[in-house]
Amino acid sequence: MKNNRRIFLKDLGRYGAGVCLSPLISCQKPPKKSLGVALVGLGGYSRGQLAPALQLTKYCHLSAIVTGSPEKVPEWQKNYNIKDSNVYSYQDFDKIANNDEVDVIYIVLPTALHAEYAIAAANAGKHVWCEKPMAMNEKECQAIIDACKKNKVRLSIGYRMQHEKNTKTLIGYRHTKPYGDFTEIIAQAGYAGGGGTGWRHQKSMGGGAMYDMGVYTVNAIRYATGLEIKKVISAEHIISRPELFKEVDETTQYQVEMSNGLIAQGWTSVGESKNLLRVNCDKGWYELSPMQSYNGVQGKTSDGILLNEYVESQQALQMDDDALAIIENKEMMVPGIEGLKDIRVIEAIFRSAATGESVSL
Ligand code: NAD
Repeated sequence: MKNNRRIFLKDLGRYGAGVCLSPLISCQKPPKKSLGVALVGLGGYSRGQLAPALQLTKYCHLSAIVTGSPEKVPEWQKNYNIKDSNVYSYQDFDKIANNDEVDVIYIVLPTALHAEYAIAAANAGKHVWCEKPMAMNEKECQAIIDACKKNKVRLSIGYRMQHEKNTKTLIGYRHTKPYGDFTEIIAQAGYAGGGGTGWRHQKSMGGGAMYDMGVYTVNAIRYATGLEIKKVISAEHIISRPELFKEVDETTQYQVEMSNGLIAQGWTSVGESKNLLRVNCDKGWYELSPMQSYNGVQGKTSDGILLNEYVESQQALQMDDDALAIIENKEMMVPGIEGLKDIRVIEAIFRSAATGESVSL
């Protein structure tokens, strides 16, 4: 009898507190309508974009914060009504596993820390959203994917562009081919500035143009065409301010070949501003410019169609799409493998720039 009870309690634990004993009443917890999100890292992107966007979302909300900067906590608690019990430091991060008000952990840290915290989040049994670039290298990306699989939690990468309406129209053209077959793709993403110090200038932290901005160009080449990059034909780093860019790339240009032989030109910089995704086809062309700014992504086609649907917040669209995919148990729009594929290309671009040779994938 004692043994049976022990087995029963073990099973009850396995199936979760949502199961009750009465055969007459269904005590299964109803699926949540809105998921609680914990932001890990309260830097520029969390503060300026994600937290405000989480005030606009329908299927998720900001429920917790994880930070190593206690001085930031009072303002966040006041602005976003966050309870004391939902504030974590990196030291007590693992306790988040017991917090039912957190369903998703969103990693918004410097790139070198993504893998460590994404894996810890998965091991805490929470769904994982991870900012771009997914991690430092393919091995780390795979480790994140494996941890999410092992813990049966969902994973998506914060590629906001793929949720943006005008970008989705452009992505749709790859199926309908209104301007014929692709002849060339040009993807450029860069901003003027890139001064200062900090992790974006440190190689070991994942700094530099290619990781920060170039990842958008690689991702764009892939989403515009639906094709995979099979070879980096050439790549080159250009440094115009050597006193600032001692360890990482300031500007990188590269040429890649897709699985069907199509050529794409990529360019990225943290010293010069460009923002273009151009798709040349045999019967016309279309482009987005800017193609990856926070607001006002817009474009046009060779026959005068304007792609300028208004989007209030790309981040709100992204997080609602991802939350709904979890709630409805549907596929993530941008799963972990998409982040891994981009990092694989970025690693090949660095190898090509270092050796001066083409690199096959
Ligand atoms: P940031 O420098 O403004 O903030 C980084 C945060 O990490 C800070 O709060 C800092 O205190 C914390 N941190 C913890 N440990 C750290 C350490 N060892 N070194 C440095 N900082 C540490 O950076 P950010 O702009 O908020 O970028 C964070 C992540 O978000 C990056 O992966 C970046 O690529 C991504 N991001 C994405 C977008 C987008 O549009 N999807 C835009 C900006 C940034």
